Amino acid sequence: MSKPEKFIEDGIRLDGRKIDELRPIKFEVGILNRADGSCYLEMGGNKVVAAVYGPREVHPRHMQKSTTAIVRYKYNMASFSVEDRKRPGPDRRSTEVSKVSRQALEPVIFVEKYPRSVIDIFVEVLQADAGTRAAGINAASVALADAGIPMKCLVSACAVGKVDDTLVLDLNKDEDNYGQADVPVAVTPGGNITLLQMDGHLTSDEFKTGLEMAKKGCADIYKLQKAALMAKYSDDTEGGSNE
Ligand code: ADP
Repeated sequence: MSKPEKFIEDGIRLDGRKIDELRPIKFEVGILNRADGSCYLEMGGNKVVAAVYGPREVHPRHMQKSTTAIVRYKYNMASFSVEDRKRPGPDRRSTEVSKVSRQALEPVIFVEKYPRSVIDIFVEVLQADAGTRAAGINAASVALADAGIPMKCLVSACAVGKVDDTLVLDLNKDEDNYGQADVPVAVTPGGNITLLQMDGHLTSDEFKTGLEMAKKGCADIYKLQKAALMAKYSDDTEGGSNE
């Protein structure tokens, strides 16, 4: 799509949302039988799957830490996830997204409980529509809980950005492509920020307001994450089975 003349008309965005409204979100917990924990998430046009394995033995062994578990996070975009076929395999962007996403989740995991082991998190983006790192973190957080990994809390993520000189929550693809700023944020329910990046420009006042908008968005996502886990485990009398 070429750059629209206007992104916001009478307070409503081109996809029908208000400026502080998230895209529709749907979580599904425990969709993969072979993973210890898993989650499928649709967040607007994004479709992602997160799979968690572990705690398990570290290979290669020289990577193990004697006092804590290590956390590995692998973000991958499928070739068919974007309009033009994406060249398969890792690239600079996926390496960066994997690193910041791991750092967004690591602080809430009780890694000291599992010395010499590894917790592996895999995120596959099946369909991308801006905000895939946030979608990946949301799904991975739920998948970690589904795997029974002891955590201080969940982590929730969304982006805030600027289009038409206006702050908007949870950018879609066109807003991300042609917008003036994109700020992905991840927070704990207590408001601790575990991921904060910024592409583009915001004034310091815009940044403060935008951060509050993102935190509110994350609080709403947190409710959905919790509801998805409750929906699975309140019916699951065996507790923790992925069958
Ligand atoms: P995020 O997905 O977290 O917003 P970026 O801001 O880097 O990360 O990317 C924004 C969007 O651009 C992605 O969600 C995706 O829709 C698109 N995109 C990213 N990489 C590619 C690529 N290699 N080819 C086509 N589109 C891409």
